[in-house]
Amino acid sequence: HRDGRPGDEIVALRRKTLLPNLSISFRKPLKMVRGEGVWLIADDGRAYLDCFNNVAHLGHTHPEIVEVIARESSRLNTNTRYLHDNMVDYAEKLGATLPGDLKVASFVCTGSEANDLMLRMARAKTGEKDMVVVDWAYHGHVAELIDISPYKYKRAGGAGRPSHVWEAQLPDTYRAPADWPIEEHGKRFAESVARQVEAIRKAGRKPAAFIAESIPSCAGQIFFPPHYLEEAYRIIREAGGICVADEVQVGFGRVGTHMWAFETQGIVPDVVTMGKPIGNGHPLAALVTTPDIAKAFNNGMEYFNTFGGNPVSCAIGLKVLEIIERDRLRDNAKAIGDYLMARFRDMQKRYEVIGDVRGMGLFLGLDLVTDRTTKAYATDFANRVVNLAREEGVLIGTDGPYDNVVKMRPAMIFTRREADLLCDVLDQAFARASAEA
Ligand code: PMP
Repeated sequence: HRDGRPGDEIVALRRKTLLPNLSISFRKPLKMVRGEGVWLIADDGRAYLDCFNNVAHLGHTHPEIVEVIARESSRLNTNTRYLHDNMVDYAEKLGATLPGDLKVASFVCTGSEANDLMLRMARAKTGEKDMVVVDWAYHGHVAELIDISPYKYKRAGGAGRPSHVWEAQLPDTYRAPADWPIEEHGKRFAESVARQVEAIRKAGRKPAAFIAESIPSCAGQIFFPPHYLEEAYRIIREAGGICVADEVQVGFGRVGTHMWAFETQGIVPDVVTMGKPIGNGHPLAALVTTPDIAKAFNNGMEYFNTFGGNPVSCAIGLKVLEIIERDRLRDNAKAIGDYLMARFRDMQKRYEVIGDVRGMGLFLGLDLVTDRTTKAYATDFANRVVNLAREEGVLIGTDGPYDNVVKMRPAMIFTRREADLLCDVLDQAFARASAEA
């Protein structure tokens, strides 16, 4: 694989030919030439254990997915104004994984398209425009979604909170006020949702929708306290708004116990948006809603998406669902996730810098702090750990508004042996970074 340009040449070419606001992972950039299962192979022949990419849900270049892409593309790839089995089969199968009335699907190409469609539905259903979002949320890169993404509009280059958007406090139990009894966290954090609804009412309006990632990721792998979404949904619905679960990062069994992360909160949303892992790397995304909301959206204007729902994409989506079930990948995510959590908790005893260990299935985070009392963000340390792990052949990342949370989302096929490798390398990286600090 020595053909092609060396990495430094590509870096220079990117500077000249591509938009500059695109970062490159790691201090020493990597040029990947091949993927296989949980491994990415770089141009120097070295294999890296990918513990970060949640798109390659079943593993990179999964042979059955590759076969479906080849087979279906060599047969037919048209738009959805012709009849085809794949799209209805897929809508049926996807609907069957969801509770309640969540049975009407729309297929799109990116998570952003799914969330943008969601905004239009919320407006059509309620006649309102105001959105309640969770602080530090990210819901997509199109203009309307940057507007409901505090993670973007509050940080560099952002224009601040638009007047139709209201931020509910991030339900981060680790950084909750010390005088809140732990069993009240869900209710206490949801009070912030009620305050936003009250502010909207004072402005003479009503909420169109409340949207939350079922496990906020850009906010730093934050797990909602019990009853949080139950309370938040009740407040929003009483005020006439609809409730949306963004499952773009966390869906498709990643949490192990359930297919959808919102199920861990015991609620049923009105709209669910999905993306990333849905096509194992193929650009596919979806929105699923209720017949009632679908009817309200059907106001005479057609919704047509050139690529969304084409026969190839739907065949891929169907195969991904089939493999998750057939290979019992949720059970694997649960078992390996539990094992990783136990090892991380053991590491937490040895490294002061690990303030909090969070995870469910194969969605995991280590909240790093410079001081366990003040919980000050250990941003530099997190950065060092990630780069040291990369030197040792393990790929992880950071996230959170202060980039102090080590974030891991390995493929659903992750094994115990690979989990051990990840932990051994992490342990070493923490030891080295602590010695340097
Ligand atoms: N929602 C969430 C929670 C996401 O993490 C992302 C992508 N990071 C999106 C929406 C947008 O998806 P896409 O990049 O496919 O448009």
